[in-house]
Amino acid sequence: EFAIIEKIKEEINKKNVELLHLQFVDIEGILKHVTVTSEQLEDVVQGKIMFDGSSIKGFSPINKSDLYLQPDLTTFSVLPWTVEEGYSEARFLCSVKNPDGSWFEGDTRNVLKKTVERAADKGYTISVGPELEFFLFKTDENGYPTQELSDKAGYFEPSPKDLGERVRLEIYRALKAMGFIIEASHHEVAEGQHEINFKYADALGAADLSTTYKWVVKTIAKKYNLHATFMPKPVFGINGSGMHVNMSFFKGNENAFFDPADDLQLSNQAYQFIAGLLENVKSFTAVTNPLVNSYKRLVPGYEAPCYIAWSASNRSALIRIPAKKGMATRVELRCPDPSANPYLTFAVIAAAGLDGIEQELQVPFPINEDIFHMTEERRGELGIESLPGSLAAAVKELEDGEIGRKTLGNHVYDEFVAAKKSEWDSYRTAVHAWEIENYQAKF
Ligand code: GLN
Ligand code: MG
Ligand code: MG
Ligand code: MG
Repeated sequence: EFAIIEKIKEEINKKNVELLHLQFVDIEGILKHVTVTSEQLEDVVQGKIMFDGSSIKGFSPINKSDLYLQPDLTTFSVLPWTVEEGYSEARFLCSVKNPDGSWFEGDTRNVLKKTVERAADKGYTISVGPELEFFLFKTDENGYPTQELSDKAGYFEPSPKDLGERVRLEIYRALKAMGFIIEASHHEVAEGQHEINFKYADALGAADLSTTYKWVVKTIAKKYNLHATFMPKPVFGINGSGMHVNMSFFKGNENAFFDPADDLQLSNQAYQFIAGLLENVKSFTAVTNPLVNSYKRLVPGYEAPCYIAWSASNRSALIRIPAKKGMATRVELRCPDPSANPYLTFAVIAAAGLDGIEQELQVPFPINEDIFHMTEERRGELGIESLPGSLAAAVKELEDGEIGRKTLGNHVYDEFVAAKKSEWDSYRTAVHAWEIENYQAKF
């Protein structure tokens, strides 16, 4: 710890860091921060910076609102876009503590740490590679997002059709300067849609990277008069944005999902992990797909899953096994979207997989046919169920299942369910443009 602090001090002096942003996320995974000066580093490191938890969604009641920020020193980074001659700003990601020094159970970063510990008790480290897609929209003269997409390019199309190459280059540079290992960047299938991939990390690290990625993408896009959105289905009729989650368990330096002797080169644990996901997915969909809008992405025909099945190759399946094996052996879950809180998302997925391993669940047969074009009857024969069709249905499944409360803990679980119910109620009672369009003139 002492060595890290010395390195941080060195960096602060070298880059003339004047301000430190202490960052954390609320229950929805939305980034928040409070800013102090770098002269306060000692207090920051000792977790002495306090804030009002009653103003943060899903945190604490007004009568117990004092909370403290404990920075994770490994997340220190200078913000590349703030660097000027003789000036810069830096940030830490923090975990939240109660006044008595215990970890605050409303902090979703702390929630994920519990699942990481549960896996560690079984000898596993969790490795996660998320893929977050996003859309770029033009902004108006006031800087607000318009409905106009930034370009008309499609999958893998280069410039001059892809108008996002310059902004993606700058996003890539910023992420790299903040310690990301960037693997690829490309235009996605839908117009105005993009993806930049970074290297997998341990579960907590990957959730921190996802949080940072969303912030950096939005920040750099803004400089180009663009609005980046991680909303799952911003435009009807074209692909939505997913956050595929690639996960594997390691034992020491060995990938516990790899078995060269198996047909698909998957170990027993990998099959049990898949079985655990299939068994629990309906009860955790509210977490991985938390918005009313999330369920407009999970419909047939747009490369997003809606049926509960797995396959070695099939992109219409919920779970796919990417071709890369050996150390890279992993299971890809395709339902999560980037509006989800990554800490809670990785926690419920890992917990479901661990359940599968602990209970030695049997995996059903893989489905290699295109499920989108299957009749309902055929799906019935094969026993293929559907994901919840709406936020309301997903919240019901979350309440009926056990994995939510067990993994999220009482505080986050109760706050999450209450917030989602009220979100659904607000949506359910609103009158939408679609209704006006289809009913007003006709009836
Ligand atoms: N955008 C698709 C989704 O909603 C994924 C497309 C892809 O990455 N092949 O999940
Ligand atoms: Mg991808
Ligand atoms: Mg993609
Ligand atoms: Mg993928």
